[in-house]
Amino acid sequence: MLRTCLKQRIYTYSSIRDRINQERAERLKNLPTTTQEKIRNFGIIAHIDAGKTTTTERMLFYAGAIPFPGEVHDGTTTMDFMPQERQRGITIRSAAISFNWANHQYNLIDTPGHIDFTAEVERSLRVLDGAIAIFDGVSGVQTQSETVWLQANKFNIPKIAFVNKMDRQGASLEYTIQSMKDRLNIKPFIMQIPVGEIDYFNSVIDLLSFQEIIWLDKYGSEVQFRDIDKSHPYYDKAIKARDDLLSNVSEYDETIAELYLEDSKELLNQQLLLQSIKQIINTNYNQCCPIYFGSALKNRGVQPILDAVHQLLPGPSERPLIFDINNPNNKRKLDKSEKLTAYVYKVLQDQDLGLLGFTRIYSGEMIQKQNYFNSTKDELIKIGNLYRVRANRYVPINSVQAGDIIAIQSKQAVAGSTIIGSNDDKFVLQQLQLPQCVFFANLEYESAKDKLKLDQALQQLQLEDESLKITVADETLITIGGQGELHLEIVVQRLKEDFGLNTKLKKLQVEYKESISEEGVLEIKYQDLLKGRPLWFKLKLKLQPSEQQENEVIFDFDRENDFDILYKQFKETQLRQVATQKNETSVKYIKNPCKNIEVETIIDDHGEEKAYHISSLQFPMFYHLEKSILASLNRGFLKSYQMQGIKATLLDGAFSVKRTSDLAIGRAVQKLMSEIHPLLKPIILEPIMDLEISCPNSLQQKIINDLISHRRGKIIEIKQDQNRAGSKNSNRVIITATIPSQETIGYSTAIRSISQGEAFFSMIFKKYEYVGGQKQNELISEIF
Ligand code: GDP
Ligand code: MG
Repeated sequence: MLRTCLKQRIYTYSSIRDRINQERAERLKNLPTTTQEKIRNFGIIAHIDAGKTTTTERMLFYAGAIPFPGEVHDGTTTMDFMPQERQRGITIRSAAISFNWANHQYNLIDTPGHIDFTAEVERSLRVLDGAIAIFDGVSGVQTQSETVWLQANKFNIPKIAFVNKMDRQGASLEYTIQSMKDRLNIKPFIMQIPVGEIDYFNSVIDLLSFQEIIWLDKYGSEVQFRDIDKSHPYYDKAIKARDDLLSNVSEYDETIAELYLEDSKELLNQQLLLQSIKQIINTNYNQCCPIYFGSALKNRGVQPILDAVHQLLPGPSERPLIFDINNPNNKRKLDKSEKLTAYVYKVLQDQDLGLLGFTRIYSGEMIQKQNYFNSTKDELIKIGNLYRVRANRYVPINSVQAGDIIAIQSKQAVAGSTIIGSNDDKFVLQQLQLPQCVFFANLEYESAKDKLKLDQALQQLQLEDESLKITVADETLITIGGQGELHLEIVVQRLKEDFGLNTKLKKLQVEYKESISEEGVLEIKYQDLLKGRPLWFKLKLKLQPSEQQENEVIFDFDRENDFDILYKQFKETQLRQVATQKNETSVKYIKNPCKNIEVETIIDDHGEEKAYHISSLQFPMFYHLEKSILASLNRGFLKSYQMQGIKATLLDGAFSVKRTSDLAIGRAVQKLMSEIHPLLKPIILEPIMDLEISCPNSLQQKIINDLISHRRGKIIEIKQDQNRAGSKNSNRVIITATIPSQETIGYSTAIRSISQGEAFFSMIFKKYEYVGGQKQNELISEIF
């Protein structure tokens, strides 16, 4: 829309009346007929406070989807519609909204930036084709911006960067770009340069059209485009920046490289350059990124990024084909005529409409009020209405086609599941891995009669947020676990406001784990009688600490060459059967290829029997052995915390045909574990966070002292924030440190009082680490 109007001197994006009419027309059109090339599914990702919600409000306003942009500080935004979001001025739940821009249908998801809601961000990224990453023009790349950037990389998502808050004191193009290069390791494609600084920031120079885009009115609706000539004070700077851009693009595109060398006139063709950049960022999604500048709050710079979404981010048909996780060669195209495949990325309980599943359609077509099949759960799913989502409003539609994102009304909607047309082939899409649950607390409630209501309310909250862990230890004790203090506080607040239940968090704690610090090898022979029946099994196991977080079992005994391949196949069929909860009778029986090798003779009251080498134990029992070892490694030796980082190597063993059963194997493993642990020097681990603090120089010592002497913090680096040329904020430092999660409890209040609000920090979970001898003894002597 912006660029089609380049010839006009002044152009009003649309008057309010036009906007309202446009919205009405859009609703009548019922949208689902939009072709896939015209759909863009994108997210807004960033560090908390970078301005995601503010930018989104402007986008909706310019697109005519809302009459006025809401403000986060007034609690009037369209996208943060939960009361808890409006009070706190933060996004907690990612909201979705569909709107039209420049003849395209945009499905936008505004994600939360706070570290406690990582799961919510990943849920959304899973179904998006592209993202706008927002950065704060003063702070540049912050820890959490790095995290969301890496998350987007994980899902192979191309990104456009919007450097926001260019109106703020201390905003700097150079600083932000440098921090993007340093911390995100990207090649920046700077598409514009901002003109005028701080309060005078009012326009940008678009380097492809070589025009200055000037925002004229308060709402930024009226825009003037002015060609730049030598008289412009930024002319030289713009020439240099354009040259840098073309040179960067040339590195990735041979055609452009040739034109660049020839200094060809063809480079004036904006479409050519846009196409090239689009290609580049779609293949080098984690390397190259186009960068735009603006100030969402002051209504500057938003329309060009709206244009960039359809110009540079891919449509659904330009993304890799989806495949079945059980059979990666089985792929599905985006066509309407293809079988239906859809993925429910989150669910939400709506007061009026019941359970809604936010769903991306990947192939085929979905029609309202039909029965489909949930292939992840292997069960039928009945679908009521289909809705186009407009934040907390839902517009019914009859059908929806591949490439689109909508909400389905269904009591059986489950987040993370695949919906297919019929169950003739069990096409299942990859599910998300949930993040580590680091904090937990007991939940106190007022009276026993609330218990049932509380159970139901928690179930509903968990349905909406699988990263919330609820444990009911006995009749009265409920423990909730989550990503952080804020995550759990919001649960308590929602229990009160949405369900009328008064609860309190009792002593927030971190989730400790256990591991081992030394290697141990033990061989045992298990021989026993159970109800007169003899049990016998022999095994030799080595346990050692490993770098891998997951515990694992490997084999190191003599066996036939194809044992490992066949056993792997056997396990895969077993896992598939568990996943679909069905016995596949058609699966061929996979047999252990090893021959029996006699190793000893068992003699007891029940007579004599030959014992054979472990290598020929039948696969189902082998599988039971492996599972028993893994299960015994689940609970720690010291405090029964979950164990991690252990490699178990099965070195040797023996079995007999009559005396060895699943029971004998399980008991033998238990016996071995109870005897081996003194050799292993078990240790308790605690979660450690990466912490980044920005504070004035004068507070540096005070903050560091507090970290070291009261919070077991370790300082990694102290850096002068000198990159901010000309900034009045340059007398600040950035302290990076690690700190145990336990010590972060209440840190936001503490740092606010130490610094009178002058310091701000961000943190993310780093890894689990040994707590140290003293803390370990304290924990061991602590009663639960
Ligand atoms: P989010 O956490 O990323 O969604 O950020 P918000 O949109 O909630 O914005 C965080 C704060 O920054 C709010 O107080 C906004 O008013 C403010 N803010 C957002 N954009 C700008 C901007 O361009 N300039 C200035 N000065 N402040 C902004
Ligand atoms: Mg927000």
